Amino acid sequence: MENFQKELMGARTIAIAGHVRPDGDCIGSSTALYQYLNRNKKRFGIESVDLYLEPFGNEFSMLGAIDEIKHTCDGDQDYDLFISLDCASLDRLGDAVKYFDTAKKTLNIDHHISNTGFAQVNHVVADASSTSEVIFTLLEEEEITKDIASSLYVGIIHDTGVFKHSNTTQKTMNIVGKLINKGIDFSKLIDESFYSKTYMQNQILGRCLMESILVLGGKVIVSAIRQSILNFYQARSTDLEGIVDQLRVTKGVEVAIFIYETNPNEFKVSMRSNGKVNVSKIAIYFGGGGHVMAAGCTMYGVLNDVINNLTPHIEAQLKEFEEPEGAYRFD
Ligand code: 5GP
Ligand code: MN
Repeated sequence: MENFQKELMGARTIAIAGHVRPDGDCIGSSTALYQYLNRNKKRFGIESVDLYLEPFGNEFSMLGAIDEIKHTCDGDQDYDLFISLDCASLDRLGDAVKYFDTAKKTLNIDHHISNTGFAQVNHVVADASSTSEVIFTLLEEEEITKDIASSLYVGIIHDTGVFKHSNTTQKTMNIVGKLINKGIDFSKLIDESFYSKTYMQNQILGRCLMESILVLGGKVIVSAIRQSILNFYQARSTDLEGIVDQLRVTKGVEVAIFIYETNPNEFKVSMRSNGKVNVSKIAIYFGGGGHVMAAGCTMYGVLNDVINNLTPHIEAQLKEFEEPEGAYRFD
């Protein structure tokens, strides 16, 4: 915390940005930090703070400062300090990278195991559930308002799948307890930002489940959706949130793969593991990244090739769990 505050000193203009196609943790951690800095402007000698995030869905509209977010990077400001949140590598910053490039000082706060340490100052806590959890540890508890707590809570529930993923620790739950003590409406935050779906989102989810296929003897489930179908539903990538998680809970499955077409012959791949397979390793191999149990990448070519290029990596990792050939068995 003291080191973080030292980094803030002398920065009159600050830009905060998160990764492309922002998720709950990205939105939660960045709106929390944005509100904290705005509250403490005088103390740190800050003149202005700008938050840049690509457009996202209405499910986050209950969060504080949501209307103040800049969704395009039109201006040409040179910031004193650029803070990157929840971003594993520079390419994940999208258009906001231009502010990173021209900033006097750059700071990278994240929790991805694959983080490349791309900034001047890097604070990467790989065993933290979320960037929101990392942000909590950087703020004084008494400065965390109900709105800041709501943002951090939403960030944590999204990256932990409402406390069910293996990244949830005692520390996570202790922090969550403190956030609840701030009087946040946690039931509403969970329902509105996580579980509630529009009719269109549910239709796409249903379609993706119906069209999913099992491969590698039922160990892997794959579902893909074309751009033409997404256009028909007028769906954005944020409308596809949660589909891969529903695929993952299919009985017998070790890895779930959800693929959507972003451009002709360009596919965004989301992978989830149930424990045996390190999907981050596979995502990194194809130029992406993420966590051991949840990772993603962009792949090019025809859809069948994309799937056929992924499955051997899963097969190879699953083989490590099989009994070695000729092993002695006591029957
Ligand atoms: P999702 O599948 O929900 O898009 O992402 C799962 C995790 O993998 C997230 O932590 C996300 O940041 C990371 N991830 C997804 N796609 C990419 C990618 O193309 N590059 C990198 N570096 N990380 C990704
Ligand atoms: Mn995150």
